[in-house]
Amino acid sequence: MTLRLDDSSITVAIVGCGGFIGSHLLDAVLERTRWRVFGVDLDFYRLQHRLNHERCEFLCADLADPAVVERIAQFPLVVNLAAICTPSRYMGEACEVIRSNYDHPAALAEACARSGAWLVHFSTSEIYGRTAPDSGELIEDETPVVFGPVAASRWSYATAKLLAERFIAGLPGLKWTVVRPFNFVGPYMDFMPGVDGEGIPRVLANFSTALLRGEPLKLVNGGKAKRCFTSVHDAVDFLFALFNAAGQDAGPGTASTAGVFSQAFNVGNPDNELTVAELAAKMRQIYAEIRGVDVATLPEPQNVPGEVYYGAGYDDSMRRMPSVEKAERLLGFRASTPIDVCLRESLAWFVNHYSV
Ligand code: UDP
Repeated sequence: MTLRLDDSSITVAIVGCGGFIGSHLLDAVLERTRWRVFGVDLDFYRLQHRLNHERCEFLCADLADPAVVERIAQFPLVVNLAAICTPSRYMGEACEVIRSNYDHPAALAEACARSGAWLVHFSTSEIYGRTAPDSGELIEDETPVVFGPVAASRWSYATAKLLAERFIAGLPGLKWTVVRPFNFVGPYMDFMPGVDGEGIPRVLANFSTALLRGEPLKLVNGGKAKRCFTSVHDAVDFLFALFNAAGQDAGPGTASTAGVFSQAFNVGNPDNELTVAELAAKMRQIYAEIRGVDVATLPEPQNVPGEVYYGAGYDDSMRRMPSVEKAERLLGFRASTPIDVCLRESLAWFVNHYSV
């Protein structure tokens, strides 16, 4: 496969182009390559500055439509970011969650297998299941999976994502790479409830919203769960490491395919691990600095039981520490943005964006 960044005949299809990661990827593709972009999403409000770009075409649609799936698969490179990936929806909307995270990607994978497109599919670090507080590094091809109680609907998302991964890996003739994100953060993440979305966004947007509204940050089950927060800019750099490596790679069935194709990669920053309570403390401090106020004037965080906050069937992973050895070994990639830089950028963006 020849995939040179300066090849203006290449079009990349970005499914979920209007979302958090998609909007950053779109900017990077336009800035770092000469490729064209075919962007698919249900809304494009994050992309106002790109809507008339001469190298972009946008389609307002989703993967439920087989004609849209066929059209996307005609491009040589397809990045699939489309998903319902907000934990607060995993309990009450399990069927929609499963459709968006299994049925739609499976249909897209089949179309790509027929057309020969390279599918870069975004999975999740949640496929590692209900990790314990002392669980070690999660290793792509080794770590055993244990989910929580079979009836806990929290796991509807993870089981659908895991099944999609198994389907993709098992599909004859498909050229694929799977990405497992570890809590990406940055500008444009999620939404502010009541302004550009409803319900409970993920923790970064939720804490940012509470700070802006002068409300207490809610620590679910005491905020003991740990996450490795990863800059979305590092995530985009990972994708370019992948694209560059694919440019060197001769394709499936050749000696060099071990580097890129038929591989799942963790994308996370092991240096940025915090408990949720520590995240709350850091965000309060950074917010106080941005606003020029004493942190003691901000409301204290409050504990809240998970099932009260999210609803029946909520469960949690207590630690998500990625092994990043594989990406370093095969792609020479390691995430490098420190946690304070990630949080300061994200919070400053949130304050600026939603205060206006
Ligand atoms: N969480 C919290 N308060 C919030 C939102 C989330 O304490 O307002 C916790 C949640 O229970 C989990 C962690 O923060 O332990 C990360 O949750 P998030 O929804 O960001 O996504 P996850 O990493 O679980 O997919």
